[in-house]
Amino acid sequence: MRVTAQISSMKRRKIPMRTHTIILTLLLIACHPEERKIVNTNIFLVPIGNVESESLQFLAEQLKTKFGKCELKSNIEIPQSAFNPKRGQYLSTAILSKLEQINVPEDNKILGVTNVDLYVSRLNFVFGEASLAGKTAVISLARLKPEFYGSPPNESLFRQRMVKEAVHELGHTLGLRHCPDKRCVMYFSNSLRDTDIKSDQFCQNCLKKLEVMSNK
Ligand SMILES: [Zn+2]
Ligand SMILES: [Zn+2]
Repeated sequence: MRVTAQISSMKRRKIPMRTHTIILTLLLIACHPEERKIVNTNIFLVPIGNVESESLQFLAEQLKTKFGKCELKSNIEIPQSAFNPKRGQYLSTAILSKLEQINVPEDNKILGVTNVDLYVSRLNFVFGEASLAGKTAVISLARLKPEFYGSPPNESLFRQRMVKEAVHELGHTLGLRHCPDKRCVMYFSNSLRDTDIKSDQFCQNCLKKLEVMSNK
């Protein structure tokens, strides 16, 4: 490893205390699995239908911080074939198929973001869906807004929820399954309460799994 090699060649000389601190900091950064792993992933953020640009820009910035790169792409139309008139909702699996058709370099991920309400069969609704260890994920913002439940708007709360759901679905595309740790972003949200309790971070266990998978 480059940092280690640098230290052993420097050991022969007297290293001032401040240099030690800098080297230690560098080592800590280099050894932190989150910093190392997530940097390799490029996220293409694809709005599906009309989505508020401020929310998208905020999300893009957050994902850039967490995963290294995030590009905001132009909107695509909501695929009408995904609409179920009986339910008044869109089948998220059909939206994933649409996203699958977008060409991106290997190992890059596509995250669709939409305002329409999503479902999969046997569930009333989903906050999002992703292909496990695949390239596509989608999240719906509809049920993340307090207005959906008749409460006053709360932009800060809404944005936190959006980031958590986005990181969660992207975690699936990186190969992670659900995690039993309620604070971990990979915890399964059965309701918004679960989303509000969990953080937007991967727990140490999930980080370790990401590291192992990235070394395969
Ligand atoms: Zn999940
Ligand atoms: Zn976890």
